[in-house]
Amino acid sequence: MRKLFIAGNWKMNKNVKESVSLAKSLINRLKDVQDKDVVVCPAFTALSQVYEEVKDSNVKVGAQNMSFEDEGAYTGEISPRMLKDFCEYVILGHSERRQYFGEDDEIVNKKVKKALEHGLKPILCIGETLEERDGDKTFDIIESQLKKSLKNMDKNDMKKIIIAYEPIWAIGTGKTATPEQAEEVHVFIRKVIKKSYGDEIASELRILYGGSVKPDNVKTLMEKEDIDGALVGGASLDAESFSGIVDF
Ligand code: PEP
Repeated sequence: MRKLFIAGNWKMNKNVKESVSLAKSLINRLKDVQDKDVVVCPAFTALSQVYEEVKDSNVKVGAQNMSFEDEGAYTGEISPRMLKDFCEYVILGHSERRQYFGEDDEIVNKKVKKALEHGLKPILCIGETLEERDGDKTFDIIESQLKKSLKNMDKNDMKKIIIAYEPIWAIGTGKTATPEQAEEVHVFIRKVIKKSYGDEIASELRILYGGSVKPDNVKTLMEKEDIDGALVGGASLDAESFSGIVDF
């Protein structure tokens, strides 16, 4: 039985004060939630104080990105060693990182390995563009992203990884994949993982859907057998809407 997992990606929004205030409101609203894992992913600058705010609650903290190096002369980068002080999770390979900052599957693979080496649990994002979907390439793209980003992972690693299927055309656009469209890809992802890692790992793997999830569409998505949670962008910036999504 896979426990539902709902994560909020706050992206490049909110200063420290605003982040702490949102965290406060969330722990208050979500204090009785036991049947789901709830994670918030603030900007790097707010991680420390959000962590202090939520550390005794059922809300966990994740980062939005991470360097694939441990330390050294990498100006502006944040290493997994630094994140470990505050985070249990780290989002890797988000389409905005791929699109605006040139991250490809090889880089994402290095990051996934490094996160695991430091005990951080990766939330690995994959997804197709609208052009790829319209060209009937969705499954090829998904399979290739999975194979490359998960290169050299063993079964033990796979137990710690969460996959987020985020069709790029649905991120921040208000266009959600239908539950059927999302489920079809989730089933396919599980099948690809099963082929490489076996039935047990595949059936334990949590696969999140991301792309314009809102309080009014979350339920029909989560009812699908292979959708095990959500990665939420825009709607995670407001306590009422994010708690509405968690508490659907
Ligand atoms: C995301 O950034 O991961 C995301 C799914 O964003 P939104 O919910 O705003 O589409």
